Amino acid sequence: MTAHISKQQRLDEIRTKLLRDKVCPELKATATNLVFGEGPADAEIVFIGEAPGKNEDQTGRPFVGAAGKFLNEMLEMIQLSRDQVYITSILKYRPPNNRDPLPEEKAAFLPYLQAQLETIQPKLVVTLGRHGMNCFLPDLQISKIHGQPKRIRINMLRQAERIDKGDSAASPEASDGMPIVILPLFHPAAALYNGSMRQTIIDDFARIPTVLSKIQAAV
Ligand code: URA
Repeated sequence: MTAHISKQQRLDEIRTKLLRDKVCPELKATATNLVFGEGPADAEIVFIGEAPGKNEDQTGRPFVGAAGKFLNEMLEMIQLSRDQVYITSILKYRPPNNRDPLPEEKAAFLPYLQAQLETIQPKLVVTLGRHGMNCFLPDLQISKIHGQPKRIRINMLRQAERIDKGDSAASPEASDGMPIVILPLFHPAAALYNGSMRQTIIDDFARIPTVLSKIQAAV
């Protein structure tokens, strides 16, 4: 008989396994802290960013810098607080000088992200930025589908193989994966560098409660 373990214990195990597996040792060597993710283990919404930045690396917590402040404001706008949602990123270590995540780095972290999602079983996954979106919807462009919820099945282990091989041709909609609704949004940091994008992100973010209630009504 397997002992019952809580979702939080399972998340702790995944974190421990990630450290034990020595994922991306070059990134770990230049990083200060692992930024695994935070929030309730039974959250209805999971936010997935790209990679920790300087502040996240220093604190070990996701989205605590300028982009995080904007994220907090948008959560407040839809009457949610950070402690009601789970927040993580694809990469769990800061890339040197905040460079873009490499395909092989994303592939290396995907199985752990999948395990986090399978544990939490969120109703909605909100991806922040194109890297997060491309893990689930590799053939689509964020400029075309931001703010549009997509119901898919994910099998990230297979996805990871494809990302690693640079293969974007196969269908992301595996028939045997976990069913999940993805809402792709621009990255909040984009609004920090591009004023006109700010309203687009706010408008997309404001759709979250409606998307969530439609998912709940459909279950
Ligand atoms: N940007 C991300 O994608 N993740 C973080 O944790 C912080 C900034």
